[in-house]
Formats: sequence, structure tokens, C-alpha cells
Amino acid sequence: MTNPRDLPAVDSLLQHKQAAELVAEYGRGQTLNAIREELAALRESMLAGEEITLPKNGGILEAAKKRLQKQFQPTLEAVINATGVVLHTNLGRAPLSTVDMQQLAVLLSSYNTLEFDLESGKRGSRSVHAEALIRRLTGAEAALVVNNNAAAVLLALSALSKGKRAIISRSQLVEIGGGFRVPDVMRQSGAKLVEIGTTNRVNLQDYEEALEEPSALVVRAHHSNFKLVGFTHEPDFAAIVKAAHARGVPVLDDLGSGALLDTSRYGLAHEPMVQESLAAGADLVCFSGDKLLGGPQAGILVGKADLVAKVKRHPLARAVRADKFCLAALAVTLEHYLKEEAERAIPIWVMISAPLKQLEKRARHWQASLGAGEVVESVSTVGGGSLPEETLPTYALALRPPKLAAFQKALRQMSPPVIARVENDQVLFDPRTVLPEQEGALLVGLANALAMGAGGRFKKEEQE
Ligand SMILES: *Cc1c(COP(=O)(O)O)cnc(C)c1O
Repeated sequence: MTNPRDLPAVDSLLQHKQAAELVAEYGRGQTLNAIREELAALRESMLAGEEITLPKNGGILEAAKKRLQKQFQPTLEAVINATGVVLHTNLGRAPLSTVDMQQLAVLLSSYNTLEFDLESGKRGSRSVHAEALIRRLTGAEAALVVNNNAAAVLLALSALSKGKRAIISRSQLVEIGGGFRVPDVMRQSGAKLVEIGTTNRVNLQDYEEALEEPSALVVRAHHSNFKLVGFTHEPDFAAIVKAAHARGVPVLDDLGSGALLDTSRYGLAHEPMVQESLAAGADLVCFSGDKLLGGPQAGILVGKADLVAKVKRHPLARAVRADKFCLAALAVTLEHYLKEEAERAIPIWVMISAPLKQLEKRARHWQASLGAGEVVESVSTVGGGSLPEETLPTYALALRPPKLAAFQKALRQMSPPVIARVENDQVLFDPRTVLPEQEGALLVGLANALAMGAGGRFKKEEQE
């Protein structure tokens, strides 16, 4: 039996040249920990009577290095999204453009004019950046950017309806996922939730009756990832606004997805647009930055100047304000809309507007270069809590590996990991959501994962 006492001391291992390299890369404390952990593991195996040969010092340090590599492996890392879901919430929603991010790298790695006015040399306002662009784009009197749309809703309700009546239809008391339930957020703000209508139907009269008592706000929430079908009714939004305004009550429209472009131009259902909501008379409209806008995580509030000013003054506004990363990424994204170049410059709109022919060509190219699978007709979805059940036609590469789960696991172990969609025992790879610059890596990953299957190495992977 090997004896634990034959194991080298930590100090002697640290003298080793290899250890110096680890210290330089990972720091002394972490290297020391990894070596101690490795020695402890060896000691335990020996005491358990396992037949192991005493490793050389180099071998122990090699094992410590593996531990360090594993510990420093980032948990937040780039992946290839081959699922065909454009706004995949679990995969970070909207990817940002490489060109834009290169521009931001310069800005964010230096000091900047976040709250500095170059003209006067005095303190400036962070609201002159993205917020000015949003105003130009939507024609709204004022705008405010906060951490995310959930924060925008909570903040607007807190500032405008705390302790007062806020009216909303029962058909809009939805949960959009990730723990965001419209009624819970309304209660959290301190508003007195006034539910009207039924789950499937609400009339203008329901609004008018509720408005007879003094109220602070009428709220409309977009159904998002939920579809109301069959015997349903919701009055025209402009009519709701008119009824509210007749009583001097403002209307808050939580749009969720925040489309600035008309989704029906791409063969999808029409998603309510920010401009339309303002045109219908909404006093405040809020939406996400990283859904159909295609920018960074943000919550954007636009509308009447006095109401936005009131919201900005609320103490919560400081707690949920947007940072320079968000404001900078939002500004470059919004510029693309102003220049009417979203379809070639904002990744999610490049994907949504991708011509079918081009998708087919890419799928065929993948098949040819792998020499495997077949090209099938399939559908992509938009996702991100918008356009439920709506699909875009696409072509995908379909592989039929013998061991489905093992193959998918192998794909997830590639660098970068590949996330695909499974349908009827096939693994589908949809070119729509695979960024062109990731295509080379995808093909290498696929070839490797296929080779692992062919070489019978799946068994071992499965046991891990
Ligand atoms: C997605 C969504 C939200 C939350 O937006 P986040 O930016 O994810 O915080 C709020 N309301 C509606 C209607 C939504 O669809």
C-alpha cells in the first residue's frame, strides 16, 4: 500500500517551476488551495486502501492545474444558439453587434461624459444620451431609462399610484415568466389594484364604471407570451385612453416587447408598437431594451413630460437607474433605428429579416461541409415574451445521432458550447440564430461531437 507519508509537502511543491507558473496565472492563494485539495484527495484514496501509484511532483501540479482551470472556468460564457429562438431568455435575449461593441470598448475603457457637459465644463445629465435618441425616435415629450422593464413598471406605479386606485383588466393580469406577475408588481408598488372585466372579456363600460371613483391610473399590460383566443374582447386602446382622459386619469401602457418596427412586415403577427401606443394617446409607455428593441437589458419609459419628471423624482428612480454600459449600448442600438438600418445592423432584426433562400443556402453549406445530416424545412420563433405561437419559416440541418441525449451533451461541451433544438428524435440546427462569425466554430463543434459518437466515446461522457 502506498503511504500518505510519502506525499510531498506543500512547500516543496511550491518550489517547482510549474508551481511558479500557476502562481503567476492564478495567484498564490488559489494555487495553494488547489495543491492542498489535490494532496488531500490523494491522501484519502490511499487511506481508503485504493491501489494508486504515488504521482511525481509534476503529476500532482498537473492535477492542481486542472482543478484551477475548472475553478476559473467562467459560468457566464458565449454559446452558439442554433435553436432558432431569436430572443432566447435563457441565452441572454438580444445579442449585441460586434461592430457596436468594438466602438463601446473604447468608450467604456476610458473616462467619459456620462454626467459631464463639455460645452459648459460643468456637471451634465446622464439623460442626454439614450433618452434624447428615444425622444427623437418616438416623438415622445420625455424619456427615462432604468435597469429593466420590470423596474420601469414598478417605478411608474409607485410614483403615480401609490395608495391610490390603479385600474387594470383581469385579462391582463398575466405572469410573463421569471417571477414577474403583473398583479404582484402592482401590489408591490402600493397601488390599490382595481380589477375589472373577466379573464377573457372586458368592455369599455367596465372601464367607465371603474373610473367613476377617483383613480390615479389606468394600466394596460401586453399579454406578451400568452394568447387570448375564442370568446374574448378588449376595447380599442384609443377608446380606453379617451374614457380615462375624460376623467383626467392618465394611462400607462406596459408594452413588454417594445417593437419599434412593424413585425407584420416579416410575415409575423403585428406586435403593438411604441409609436402606435403614443399615437393612441398613452400618457406613459414602458418596454424592455433587450426584447424586440434588440439592445441591452434596460427598461424604457416614454411619455408626457410632467409624468416622466414625476417618475424621475421618485426615490426608487435612483435605485434602478441605468449605468453607462446600458446607456452606451442603448444609444448605439437606437442610432441604427434613426438611420433606418436596423435590418442590417441590429443582430435580432438581421435574424428576423433573413431571407429564406439565404437560410437554406447556409443549411446546405453546413450539410456539405460536414457530409452528414439532411436539410429540412422547419420554423424559427421570435421568443422573449413576444409573438406567442408565431413562427418564421426556415431551413435547418437535421442530424439523427444514435444517442440523442449524449450527443446534445457533447455539443454543450464544445467550445463554444452549441445549443440546438430537438424535434422527433432529430437534432435541428437553425442558421437563423447562428451568428455568421460563429459558423466556423459551429462546424468544428459539430464535427467533433459527431466523431465522439462514431468513436463510441459517448458512454464515458454519459457517466460523468
Ligand atoms: C418582459 C415584460 C416585462 C419585464 O421586462 P424585463 O425587461 O424583462 O424586466 C414587463 N412587462 C411585460 C408585459 C413584459 O412582456
